[in-house]
Amino acid sequence: MTSEKTRQRLVDRLRAKGIKDPRVLDAIAATPRHLFVGEALSSRAYEDSALPIGRGQTISQPYVVALMTEAALAGGRPGKVLEIGTGSGYQAAILAALADQVFSTERIGELVRSARQRFHSLGLHNIYTRHCDGLTGWPSQAPFDAIVVTAGGVVPASLLDQLAEDGVMVAPEQSGSSQRLIRTTRTRAGFEREDLGAVIFVPLLEGVE
Ligand code: SAH
Repeated sequence: MTSEKTRQRLVDRLRAKGIKDPRVLDAIAATPRHLFVGEALSSRAYEDSALPIGRGQTISQPYVVALMTEAALAGGRPGKVLEIGTGSGYQAAILAALADQVFSTERIGELVRSARQRFHSLGLHNIYTRHCDGLTGWPSQAPFDAIVVTAGGVVPASLLDQLAEDGVMVAPEQSGSSQRLIRTTRTRAGFEREDLGAVIFVPLLEGVE
């Protein structure tokens, strides 16, 4: 149930849903998602669905992880990526295969600790984690080539200051009762926004737990 073949079926499904970037599809094929969920759910790890990871949070749906990663990589291989919402660590692991360094922030201490253990046992040494309110970003490591926000809400405009020129931020933004995935690109002239479609994420919250 966690075999190579099962994983390949997920990749085929993502391709059928419109994910084209071979770097993203290869990273998904190579990353053992079953190790990012509890044992009771590992048989469902290669379904294209979000799954609970405890503390009311979820590991994102693989299609959404692929879509966000593809959107974040549009400008080429990023040097530094900032993630808001480490959660299980799965999205960070995918980014770590495609960027030089990933700086991932999470507000729930228990989730940061289990994600760190996973990164360690998988030998993912280019992921740096921090237990903090990610809405403040990671100023000492800025600027970032990409910022990926994996919880939905209102992203403070100050986070955009931590983007490098030509850098992109991909974030689910609340608009009324629904969420839209928005890519914001920092250009010399200012910021350009693109709507990548409807998504569903757990809420972006302030403060730490
Ligand atoms: N990227 C994760 C998705 C986890 S769900 C994965 O691949 O598993 C989103 C996560 O964002 C939750 O763990 C939640 O605790 C976290 N979160 C919400 N608001 C946050 C904030 N302000 N700063 C940091 N993390 C936040």
